[in-house]
Amino acid sequence: MRVRFAPSPTGALHIGGARAALYNHLAARGAARRGEPSQFVLRIEDTDRERSTPENVEQILDALQWLGLDWDEGPISQVSHEARHREVVEDLLTRGLAYRTTATADDVRAYKDEHGADKGFRGTDQGEGAIRLHVPEGELVVHDLIRGDTTFQNVHMDDPVIARADGSPLYNLAVAVDDIDAEITHVIHGEDHLSNTPKQLLVYSALGKEPPLFAHLPLLHGPDGKKLSKRHGAASVQELRDAGYLPEAVINYLALLGWGDSDDETILSREELEERFDVGKVTKHPARFDETKLRWLNGKYLRALSVDELTDRLEQHTGRTGLRGAVEISQEKISTFHDFWPLAGFFFDGPKTDDQKARDQWLDDDGRKTLAAARDALGVLDPFSLEAVEQTLRELPATLEVKPKQVFQPVRVALAGTTVSPGIFESAALLGKDETLRRIDAAIASPGT
Ligand code: GLU
Repeated sequence: MRVRFAPSPTGALHIGGARAALYNHLAARGAARRGEPSQFVLRIEDTDRERSTPENVEQILDALQWLGLDWDEGPISQVSHEARHREVVEDLLTRGLAYRTTATADDVRAYKDEHGADKGFRGTDQGEGAIRLHVPEGELVVHDLIRGDTTFQNVHMDDPVIARADGSPLYNLAVAVDDIDAEITHVIHGEDHLSNTPKQLLVYSALGKEPPLFAHLPLLHGPDGKKLSKRHGAASVQELRDAGYLPEAVINYLALLGWGDSDDETILSREELEERFDVGKVTKHPARFDETKLRWLNGKYLRALSVDELTDRLEQHTGRTGLRGAVEISQEKISTFHDFWPLAGFFFDGPKTDDQKARDQWLDDDGRKTLAAARDALGVLDPFSLEAVEQTLRELPATLEVKPKQVFQPVRVALAGTTVSPGIFESAALLGKDETLRRIDAAIASPGT
């Protein structure tokens, strides 16, 4: 099996593109596991010279690497094959399988007016102009692993343009020639390419080549059933990365998105995915990309990491160091890397100053009285251990004849500046005695900031 991923570097790698890359990759690696020689080829379709930039190529390679989608051949620039494409076009002309014509879109319309709207345009060699392929009589069958066979009657297809008047090859010619030369056996890509496939098959047939098997992946929709776009949140791999998702969770989620009847909330390792993946089981209807489900899955992956591993990754993500203690007590409460700093940043940057509501509610006169009592009780602890802090704070409500939260919330707001934090005993113990007392004193002295 030889598959390829062939992105056009006109922007970032979108989630739909990443899913196509992943399905090709899983197909190839799955075949390899079953002992079948297989390769995953990376081709950069950079024929749009204006929109294809080296930065975009870099970004795509980077996103693939981040996802762990390694390639066996490439990246191959499609532009670098232009001489070969031109040679094929020349050859088709020489053999009379293609012709030059000056026919315009109007001429094609006029042809249909005369011969019938469902009749494909047929031209004659005029010795100049763009180059079209002669469509032979007969029919073409697209073997699609997801949709089954679709038959196209050649009579309805226009002679396709394969090169401009200056001989520069067009997209469908270039793709078919590259796939033939690379001996691609399976073309797995988005169904937005469906309309290109018959044109490419005409090139295969003109060149006397067996076409590959196809798999046209249904489009990705957002949770509202509309085509996935920025409106739905992250739309590119880079955005998912920036938002603090783990590549392994993204892979797991994308793999199960619209694949067979599996529940998209199942955790499967890369090995299991490679073993089980079957492109023929991809559903025919659009798949829904739902970031809340990805978050859920990401949380599962994140909690399964060891504290050391999670600390390592969070330190890389945030560029900060010394996070281990905070990571240890936050792990249960975060679903992405991005959740960490809003939850635990106060350990490092001081209590938050932007939650006025929490201060007004919990650092009022009663709250400050409670804090003073908490300060006295905590101030005598030695050692200031988690157990001692917990015991002290748990006993305080009964002593003061208040509800537990009337103690815990003022302490939390004093330490964190807000009501959302890791466990309050753990937080105090991590801050240590001096800092805990300092923050409580500051809250009593100036509750507003
Ligand atoms: N370059 C095309 C794209 O990025 C994909 C070509 C193909 O899969 O045949 O949409």
